[in-house]
Amino acid sequence: MVRIAPRYGLFIDGEFKPAADGRVFTTVNPASEESLSEVALAGPADVDRAVSSARTAFERVWSRMPGSERAKYIYRIARLLQERAREFAVLESLDNGKPIRESRDVDIPLAAAHFFYHAGWADKLSYAGFGAAPRPLGVAGQVIPWNFPLLMAAWKLAPALAAGNTCVLKPAETTPLSALLLAEVCQQADLPPGVVNIVTGAGETGAAIVAHPSVAKVAFTGSTEVGKQIREAVAGTGKKLTLELGGKAANIVFDDAAADQAVEGIVNGIFFNQGHVCCAGSRLLVQESVAGQVVERLKRRMATLRLGDPLDKNTDVGAINSRQQLDRIRELSASGEAEGAGRWSPPCDLPEQGFWFAPTVFTGVSQSHRIARDEIFGPVLSVLTFRTPEEAVTKANNTPYGLSAGVWTEKGSRILWMAQRLRAGVVWANTYNRFDPASPFGGYRESGFGREGGRHGLEAYLHV
Ligand code: NDP
Repeated sequence: MVRIAPRYGLFIDGEFKPAADGRVFTTVNPASEESLSEVALAGPADVDRAVSSARTAFERVWSRMPGSERAKYIYRIARLLQERAREFAVLESLDNGKPIRESRDVDIPLAAAHFFYHAGWADKLSYAGFGAAPRPLGVAGQVIPWNFPLLMAAWKLAPALAAGNTCVLKPAETTPLSALLLAEVCQQADLPPGVVNIVTGAGETGAAIVAHPSVAKVAFTGSTEVGKQIREAVAGTGKKLTLELGGKAANIVFDDAAADQAVEGIVNGIFFNQGHVCCAGSRLLVQESVAGQVVERLKRRMATLRLGDPLDKNTDVGAINSRQQLDRIRELSASGEAEGAGRWSPPCDLPEQGFWFAPTVFTGVSQSHRIARDEIFGPVLSVLTFRTPEEAVTKANNTPYGLSAGVWTEKGSRILWMAQRLRAGVVWANTYNRFDPASPFGGYRESGFGREGGRHGLEAYLHV
């Protein structure tokens, strides 16, 4: 289904090359802990080569090319992603641990959709409301996390390329393989060398990209902690910056909500992608009058979730992406118990090898508990209650984050009332975790700033 090479180089100037100092690291399958491949570890000299290549491609080729020509390449990448979708889905599930059902039905189709959507913009930038002839910025340095490896690469590359920028992208250390397959797709699409460069490595590689003087724009998705470091690193440099960081979203269920639909939304909100989702509905706020009933239904539904082999099409909950992340989820869950919340998981056999965590719900959670404040980034839901809409808003907004929220109610007027008051970049109504390339996504406060997707997302890659 997919051929994984024993060793991968860095994708620089249209070719795969080893790191200058020959260093490599291993990427493992989190479901089995088996090694999948060895990947080059880029140091500062490699980052410099990648940025120089991107700069040359920007000046000589990509920024001079008419938008209609750029569009042809981006459409080609989108079509190749569709053609090779099965290969990408299997690779993503192997390297990341997510269920094949999700990589097949969500990650890969959405990644292709991002390229299609932005290809459509490439020759229409003059009509996007940014002036008659908006100019690209130059080299975009892009650092992405491990939770949606290919999709985040698409979110970063597609708008940058459509706007006429060239890119140096670093995938996360634990999930480099789908970005490297995307590099192969760039070759297959005959993308001019240097327009897209993929450098694999760890945090230091990301820091070298951010600090490189020839990078004009930095786009980062990941933890708030690293986002703050990056903001400090680019302060005063004149580089443009967008940060898409963590979240602790409230999923708010009113007593008039359609109960079964809401329970599906709660499950999707927190157990999709093992809860490794920045906009996960990790705080369930449920109206007190229906709290007992909703939690009972939720537990019944959780008992039907199938945890196990990510490559089994029936699997709902796959592997946790890394031992480090598993340790973090365990530590935060232990703090929930220690602080007095009630912990429950359905009976669930965890495989012996690999990194696994059973779907978990905490009840009796108060706002001061760590599990109600910190981003767990795992399949762990904290349940809080409220009596009035005002109290729901106050509790939902009682977080340093501001990325997303969900509202479940029959009343349209209440949805609008809530959406105006919730301090979140995205508010879903009677649904959750819905994405579309045409819809801007992003947060504020400690969830970052800037938007990705839609016309708003293009702005981040243009002189406006
Ligand atoms: P990080 O923020 O460390 O990783 C995100 C990306 O940034 C990775 O490619 C990482 O490389 C890179 N990076 C790390 N340090 C630097 C640096 N100083 N300068 C530039 N780039 C850097 O997230 P973690 O993987 O460590 O996860 C920790 C926690 O962050 C999670 O538990 C979760 O709560 C949160 N998180 C949130 C995400 C979101 O989408 N909101 C996504 C991922 C994590 P490398 O992979 O090699 O470390």
